[in-house]
Amino acid sequence: MEQLSAWQTVRSVWQSATRPHTALVDIEQRRQSRLLAGLTLAMLITTAAATLLLTFASSSGPDATVVVLFVAQVFTLALYLMNRAGHYRLSATLFVGFNFALVHGGTILSNDVAWLLFTGMMLLLSASLMPVRITSLLFLSSIVLQIALHTLHPMRTEFSSLGPIIITIITGSMVLVFMNHRAGLESERRAELSETNRLLRESEIELEKRVIERTQELVIANEKAESARQRAEQADQIKSQFLASMSHELRTPLNAILTFSELMAVGTFGPVNDEQIDYLQKSMQSGKHLLSLINDVLDITKIQAGMMKLFIEDDFSVIIEVNTVAVSAEKLLRDKPVKLVLDIDRDFPPIACDKRRVRQVLLNLMSNAVKFTEEGTITLSAKKREKEVLFAVIDTGPGIAPQQQGIIFEPFVQTETGIRHAGGSGLGLPISKRLVAAHQGRLWVESEIGQGAAFFFTLPYQSLLGSGEHSV
Ligand code: ADP
Repeated sequence: MEQLSAWQTVRSVWQSATRPHTALVDIEQRRQSRLLAGLTLAMLITTAAATLLLTFASSSGPDATVVVLFVAQVFTLALYLMNRAGHYRLSATLFVGFNFALVHGGTILSNDVAWLLFTGMMLLLSASLMPVRITSLLFLSSIVLQIALHTLHPMRTEFSSLGPIIITIITGSMVLVFMNHRAGLESERRAELSETNRLLRESEIELEKRVIERTQELVIANEKAESARQRAEQADQIKSQFLASMSHELRTPLNAILTFSELMAVGTFGPVNDEQIDYLQKSMQSGKHLLSLINDVLDITKIQAGMMKLFIEDDFSVIIEVNTVAVSAEKLLRDKPVKLVLDIDRDFPPIACDKRRVRQVLLNLMSNAVKFTEEGTITLSAKKREKEVLFAVIDTGPGIAPQQQGIIFEPFVQTETGIRHAGGSGLGLPISKRLVAAHQGRLWVESEIGQGAAFFFTLPYQSLLGSGEHSV
C-alpha cells in the first residue's frame, strides 16, 4: 500500500515535471513536448549521476570527460527549460540537431565508424519530435554525409566498412515507411471521424427539427384540449345551474300538490269516499316518489357544481339515529319475510356531522337493502373504532358482481337487478358516497353475486370541519 503511494508520488512528480506549456493546444505537439521534456530530464539525471560517479572515482580531480558531461548537462537543462517555457519547436530542433551533429561529428573527430550506428536512433528521435519532411531531410543528409566520408575524407580507408551506411538506409527507410503509414492511417481516421461528425450533425439537426415540430404540435394539442376542457367545464356549470334551478322550481308546486291532496284525503274540504281516498293516496305516493327523485337530482347537481352545503352539529348520537333509521326500515319491510337485525356498540362519543345528511346515507343504504332483499336478514350495525365509527348495512339479497361494484357509485348507473326493481334512479349511492367523503369518511361495498351485499361507511369522531355551515 505504502509502496503504491510512493510510486504514485513519483508518477505525479514526473507528470508535473514533464507537463507541456499551456500555450500548446495542438494534441500532437503537447505529446511531443511531454516526450521531449521526459527525454531531456532523463538525460539530465543520467549525466548528473555519471558526472558524480566520475568525479568521486578519479583522485586527480575532474578530467576532460567530466567537463564534456557538464557542458552536455547545461545544454540539456537549457533545452528542458526552453521547452517548459513554451518554445517547444526551437528546443526540439536544437535537440535533434545536436544528436545529428553528435553522430556525424563524433565519427569525424574520433575516426570511429561505430558512431554511425546511432544514425537510426537519431532518425527515430527526429520522427518522434519533428515533422516528416525534417526527418526525410536528415535521412538524406546522413546518407550524403556517409558517402562523402567514404569518398572524400582524408582517412577514408578507416571508413571502408559499408555496414553503417546499409544500416542507416534500412532503419531510415523503415522509420520513414512507418511514419508514412501512421500519417496515412491518421488522415483516414480523421476523414472517417469528420464524416461521422457530419452525419451526426445532420441527424442532430433533423432531430432538433422534429423536436420543434413535435413541441409545436403538442402546444397546439394542449391548447385545443385546454379550450375543450374549459368549454366542457362551462357546459357542466350551466347544466348544473339549470338543473338546480329547475329542481327548485319543480319542488315548490309538487309540495303544494302533496299538501292539498293530503288535506283532501283527510276530508278538510268536505267528505270523500273510499275510492277517492285510494286514488288520492296513489297520487300522493307518486308525488312523493317524484319529490324524492327531484331531491336526488338537486343533491347530485349541487355536489357536482360545488354548491352543496353541510350544517355541522356536534351532538349526533349514533345509537339514537341508528334506531330511528331501523324504525323507518321496519315500516318499509311491511310483510316481507326479512328479519331486521341491529348490532350496535355502546358508549359512542358524540359525533360532529350534518345529521340530516348522515341520516340520508343510512336511509338510502337501508332502503336499497329492503328493496333488493326478498328473504333472509338485513343487519344494521354501528361499531366503535379507534378514531371513527364504522356503519354497515348487510343484506342477503342478490349481491353485486365485482365488475359492477365500481360503476354503481357513478350517477344514474343501475345494475340489471336495479333496473328490474322499477323506481330507482341510480343516484342514491353516488350521493351517499360523496356526502360521506365530505365528512372525511369512506363508503364502500363488499359483495359477491348471489351472496348478498355489505355496504360500509366510516365517520370520524373528530371532524376537521368545525360546527356551522360548510360548502363542499
Ligand atoms: P337506485 O337504488 O335508486 O337504483 P342507487 O344509487 O342507490 O340507485 O343504487 C345503484 C344501483 O346499485 C342499484 O340500481 C342496484 O343495481 C345496485 N344496488 C344498490 N344497493 C344494492 C343492494 N343492497 N343489493 C344489490 N344491488 C344493489
